[in-house]
This record gives sequence, structure tokens and C-alpha cells, in this order.
Amino acid sequence: MSEMIKKYAEIIGPAAMDSLVHIADRLKNKKIVHVNSTRSGGGVAEILSSMVPLSKELGLDVSWEVIEGDESFFNCTKMMHNTLQGSPGTLSENQITSYTDTNIRNAERLKDVLQDADYVFIHDPQPAALINSFPQRKGKWVWRCHIDVSSPNKSVWQFIKKQVSPYDASIFSLPDFAQKLPHPQFLITPSIDPLAEKNIPLERAEVEKTYAELGIPMDKPIVLQVSRYDKFKDPLGVIESYRIIKEHVDVRLVMAGGEASDDPEALEILKEVNEAVSGDPDVTVLLLPSDSHRKINALQTGADVVMQKSIKEGFGLTVTEAMWKKKPVIGGDVGGIRLQIINRFNGYRVGTPEGAAIRTRYLISHPWKMEKMGRNAREYVLENFLLTGHLRRYMTLLISLDAEGDTWERWI
Ligand code: UDP
Repeated sequence: MSEMIKKYAEIIGPAAMDSLVHIADRLKNKKIVHVNSTRSGGGVAEILSSMVPLSKELGLDVSWEVIEGDESFFNCTKMMHNTLQGSPGTLSENQITSYTDTNIRNAERLKDVLQDADYVFIHDPQPAALINSFPQRKGKWVWRCHIDVSSPNKSVWQFIKKQVSPYDASIFSLPDFAQKLPHPQFLITPSIDPLAEKNIPLERAEVEKTYAELGIPMDKPIVLQVSRYDKFKDPLGVIESYRIIKEHVDVRLVMAGGEASDDPEALEILKEVNEAVSGDPDVTVLLLPSDSHRKINALQTGADVVMQKSIKEGFGLTVTEAMWKKKPVIGGDVGGIRLQIINRFNGYRVGTPEGAAIRTRYLISHPWKMEKMGRNAREYVLENFLLTGHLRRYMTLLISLDAEGDTWERWI
């Protein structure tokens, strides 16, 4: 057993690890490829950065490819992302051309890898149209949708539906997101890697040093939101909530975000955030490089209250990350967060800045409650949202695609 496998076994237990190893054995000699649109920034890249090495450690032949596109392509896919999460808008002819042509170019670039792969996971809408260039594909193709498509903009969904219909299966994060599609749909929640730099336990001294280096005094309770600067993460709502909290309790607010190469709107939203903060010395707005995993870990570990006040959320990895660090998270009552936060048990789900403020004040003034909910949060992640369970579900899904009948039901 390798060192890495041993370390996972220490966390999830030897029996769970054993079952993972056995399932992986069934997929030896099969070629698996993941394709997404960025190597860093955002939850998909975060998951693949851990899932690919663990898969390799288990003996799987797996690779991770990233599609390339120009500004017009990423503007178009960001618009798709927004509209699929419910924003108004329609795709213009130019956008459809940019999307289609970029996928054709990438299919050409990746043809040797994709044509002969046994299994292909295509993540999110950006590379979804790749499949159209492989009518003679050898393997099974799975579309993995990470976003909240509970009430998508109809015309954009119709377009994406056309792209994803030829797939052999699709995966959504929760039942609310499932759609009418002509193939089996699986419900699998995303996960965090307990061995990643982002999630390993840190010494208090390192946490304090990181806060000091980032210029954040730890003299008052810290309220933190870690998120890309994206309107669906509701950064302005977080600031509004902070102002309400501040009327009663003296806290500091830290907003930590970074850029993702496939997210062209981030800087615009960051500008709005800075304007809303308007120089308040108790608010720190950070734009961190995409490899700041240890810093984010320290920020989450040192925070008193973690917020994720999203108004749409496929599944908030940041929520799970903070819960793993025993933080009861105050999250938006939307999408995947409803699966992650069991209201009042391991955190609070809220609908408004006022609600987030009331819960924050309550937690700060009831440390015993915060501790108890934090313990529940950690336990809940251990049981439900770790990388090992996630990979087990992916592997059993692949096996089921080749199997006769619905054998997956016994496994997943
Ligand atoms: N993240 C990061 N730096 C940042 C902001 C976010 O490393 O400045 C990470 C965060 O820790 C999490 C992922 O990016 O692992 C975001 O995933 P999530 O599912 O919360 O949101 P998404 O960005 O995919 O919508």
C-alpha cells in the first residue's frame, strides 16, 4: 500500500479504502480522460487537481485535458454559465459560432486522446460540444454538470441540451438539477481532498502568520467569505450583512477571491466590491493568486464565522472546506448548499443579508454552540463529501455503463 493510500485510509478507515482499491482494479487497463476549461480557479479545477493523482495512485490510466479558447469564447461560456443559472439572455449567432468553432478546434487538438479513450468525463458546458466531433468514438462519454441548472434560461438550455444529448450519461450534483435528457442521469455530489494543502490541519502559529502577512489583525472576530468574484456568490450581500452585524458586534470582514482564467467577469465584480467597501479599515478584500491554497486554508482555519451567501450554487466546495475545519457555515439557502448545510445542525442556511447577520451574531455570542455545530460539520463532511467517496461513485458509474442492467444501484 503506497504512502498516499495509507494516509487516506487513516482518515476514511481501512475498509472503505479497501473497497476503493477493489473497484479501481475493475478499471485497470481502461483509459479515462477528464476535460474541463481551466487548470486553476474554481471548484472543477480544484477537484481534478486531487482526483487525477488519487486515480493514478489507484492504478488507473487517467489524464486531464484543458480546452483552449479566446476572449470571445470565454465571454460566451460565462454568459452560458450565468443564463443556465437563471439569468436572462440569449446566445447570439456570433457566440454560437465562437462556441462551436472553439470546440471543433479543441477536438482536433485532442483527437488522439479522446477518440480512443474508454471513458471521457466532460465537465460543464464549455467543452460539451467536443462530442460532436467524435461520431466514431470508441468509449463512453459522460457529461458532468457542476452548475445549478434548477431553473435554466430556456433557450440556452435548449442549445446545451442539443450538445449533451449524444452523451451516454450525465451527472448532476442534486435531484433539483436533473433535466429531461435521453440518457441515464446520476446524482453525485462533489468533494474535497482532506490531504490537499487547502485542507490539511495547520498549526495556530502558521494561521496567525498568514493573517499578519495579509495585513489582517486578529483582534476582533473574523467573518470570512472565500469565493471567485462572481455575482452568484453575492459579495455585495456579504458586505451588506457585515454592515448589519457591525451595528451590534465589532467584527472584521475578509473577502478572499482569485481569478479563474475561464471567468472574464471577475475583475468587474471585484471593482464593485471595492466600491461597496469604500475604504472601511475593518474589511479586507483579497485578490489571491490561484495557487494560494495554504493561505486559504489558514484564512478558513482562523475565521470565526465562514459565510457562503451564494444566490445560486451547484455545490460550494468552500462550504465543505470550512466545515472540514469545524466551522459552522452560514450559507445561502440555494442549490447544493442545501445538501451540505443541515440547518441548525452543522450550520445555517439563510435567504437575506439580515438573516446572515442574525446567525453570525448568534454564533459569535454562543461559542459552545459554534463548537458543537463545528464538530457536526466535520463529521458530516467525513461521511459524505470526501474525495475518496466521490471517486468511488465515479468509478462505479463507469463500471455500470459497461454492465448489463442497473448494477450501479448496488454500488453508488
Ligand atoms: N478558491 C481559491 N482561491 C480563491 C477563491 C476560491 O482557491 O481565491 C477555491 C476554493 O477554496 C474552492 C474553489 O476555489 O476550492 C471554489 O469552488 P466552489 O465550488 O466553492 O465554487 P466555484 O468557484 O466552483 O463556483
